[in-house]
Amino acid sequence: MSQISCPACGNPDVKKLLYSSQGGLIWTPFLNFMKCRKCGVRFHGKTGQLDPQVPKMMRVISVLIILGFVGLIVGLALSLPSLKQSETTPVASPQSRPTARRHE
Ligand SMILES: [Zn+2]
Repeated sequence: MSQISCPACGNPDVKKLLYSSQGGLIWTPFLNFMKCRKCGVRFHGKTGQLDPQVPKMMRVISVLIILGFVGLIVGLALSLPSLKQSETTPVASPQSRPTARRHE
């Protein structure tokens, strides 16, 4: 079963989908969605099922991933000011630092 052919017309000239409207960029590469170059039908690369659907679980997970990502960025943005504060407080006084260094 190394060669996958189109279940609709038997054409072996198929390509793997990297993006689909349902699976998006996150899941489509893992879903084995194939598309026939000849008749344009979409099918599942393993089961040969025509017009495969993305499991709802995956859609929910992708939403959670995006939300988690946003949360992470917001969390980083919130923690950044405190990091900067602890950076300016250490030993060397900030006033002795030259604002513009030309040669070194
Ligand atoms: Zn086909």
